[in-house]
Amino acid sequence: GVKASGRNAIALFEPHMQVVASQRLQLETELRLALQQQQFILHYQAQIDARDQRIIGAEALLRWRHPEKGIITPGQFMPVLEDSGMILDVGHWVMREACRLVATLLDHKAIDPDHFSVSINISPRQFRQHDFVQQVAAAVTDQGIPAQCLKLEITESMMLQNITDTVAKMQQLRDMGIHFAIDDFGTGYSSLSYLKRLPVDLLKIDQSFIRDCTHDSNDAEIVRAIIAMARSLKLELIAEGVETREQLAFLQQQDCHAYQGYLFSPAVPEQAFLQQLGQTVKPAAKA
Ligand code: C2E
Ligand code: MG
Ligand code: MG
Ligand code: MG
Repeated sequence: GVKASGRNAIALFEPHMQVVASQRLQLETELRLALQQQQFILHYQAQIDARDQRIIGAEALLRWRHPEKGIITPGQFMPVLEDSGMILDVGHWVMREACRLVATLLDHKAIDPDHFSVSINISPRQFRQHDFVQQVAAAVTDQGIPAQCLKLEITESMMLQNITDTVAKMQQLRDMGIHFAIDDFGTGYSSLSYLKRLPVDLLKIDQSFIRDCTHDSNDAEIVRAIIAMARSLKLELIAEGVETREQLAFLQQQDCHAYQGYLFSPAVPEQAFLQQLGQTVKPAAKA
């Protein structure tokens, strides 16, 4: 039999841990089914040039269209995709789907390929695959789109692991015309020297700094410092999570002209994004 103390320990900890483990297992099973049954979709959030309000790109954001629960955002399932390794298949699908969107937009003459790109989020595990470069190359050539229309968002933490391999892969992709953005910039540990070594084109200022930049002087200073740094390294900038006119005005004052955020639009389904493009691209801009 079980000792009294042992039984107490079980009574205290086991039921909870079992519930967590079985919920997680159930979620994992559901996610495998979701992948098979094509329940994953991409929503697109416009990236805006604040000077003329034109759409300069879009970020593809993963959504799970759950048969009963409706649309579910990544916060609720990304950790399971990552831990289970399913992120490799899902991430590959995201890449191909984003390239398909670009091909559709080009077919509709809805974009100017020299002034529009779709960004996708790359998880560290995905980037580390030995054939990652080939996957990206195939996704682009299968759809026959210009490589410059695809941007890969990576995070600072990814650059710190195995820097030599990271630089080599990024350089190969950069040579093909693929651009790179550092996502959530300012929340990690990247130093100026790392940034200089990497073939990065764009920094995305993390939304946590934007949120309070109009009433917290520390956040305002951080945003100013990131903007100054990007300028001296000749990197493009996008501010994430812009929700108010005040935040936008602050960014414009600091000479940061591109943004994403609810102020313009949240991420929307493909059809709605096509409508946004139609409303904001001036016909005169097209040949
Ligand atoms: P992220 O790449 O930093 O994406 C920005 C997140 O901020 C998105 O959340 C977006 O919906 C949200 N957002 C945009 N504008 C605003 C705003 O004005 N206010 C606020 N409060 N939020 C705003 P979402 O779609 O829930 O995605 C969360 C994270 O999940 C992403 O953060 C990204 O790290 C990850 N993720 C999303 N899609 C993918 C994917 O296809 N692959 C991978 N590996 N990760 C993904
Ligand atoms: Mg992102
Ligand atoms: Mg971000
Ligand atoms: Mg994030």
